[in-house]
Amino acid sequence: EGKNADYIPQLSRINPEQYGISICSIDGQRYNIGDTEIDFTVQSCCKPINYGIALENLGEDYVHKYVGREPSGQAFNELLLNKKGNPHNPLINSGAIMTTSMLFSEEELSSRFEKLIEVWYKLSGGLYKIGFNNPVYLSEKKTADRNYALSYFMNEKNENKKTGFPDNTDINETLELYFQNCSIEVNTKILSIVASTLANGGINPFTGKQIFSSETVKNILSVMLTCGMYDYSGEFAFKIGIPAKSGVSGSIMIVIPNVMGI
Ligand code: GLN
Repeated sequence: EGKNADYIPQLSRINPEQYGISICSIDGQRYNIGDTEIDFTVQSCCKPINYGIALENLGEDYVHKYVGREPSGQAFNELLLNKKGNPHNPLINSGAIMTTSMLFSEEELSSRFEKLIEVWYKLSGGLYKIGFNNPVYLSEKKTADRNYALSYFMNEKNENKKTGFPDNTDINETLELYFQNCSIEVNTKILSIVASTLANGGINPFTGKQIFSSETVKNILSVMLTCGMYDYSGEFAFKIGIPAKSGVSGSIMIVIPNVMGI
């Protein structure tokens, strides 16, 4: 049940009957059922990954100077900040735009995106090509009033330098990268391997390479458990009880720590 997101026109046109589930255990056993080879855009499933990259590169103290770690209890794109004037957490839109501003920020936009794709490639063990959906990207960019509003809302606070974006943030470039990031294209097979890397403490089950530190993974999974399903996070934690992240393309990335990614 449910219905397609329609605020991004390209997403409203996707066949809602498509359904697939992939699992990948921490020792690389895989099982796929249904439409597991149909590509979809990652949308908000990129948010925990971006948070992880920001933590790895800049450290917990720096990242959490700009973004909180409490659930907001509100919709994903609510025009709302916490009492300090920061986004509530890295998994709602405002917080994800904030963490995006921190991603390889000293580099050109082109190499910032290239580096993001590289992280996705490593998290999925290099078994598949990571795609990009240009029509969804263009469609999202064209209908992004709320994300622009959230960004300027956060930036307004920057005047007193207490909160807002890190210095030298270019809002347009940050949003550009955020939209591109949401338009990264995978299938459920790929996403389950990414989730299994998180389930495995940051070590990809196929390459044996440590992509994120266990400390970073612990933080990612904590916010996924408390904030990953937006205003359904409490209910999801109560009923299901494991870290998960949803996206408006209809994807859900679920992690059972030390067991498997779904
Ligand atoms: N691309 C979406 C947006 O920012 C991501 C939101 C989502 O998947 N919940 O509007």
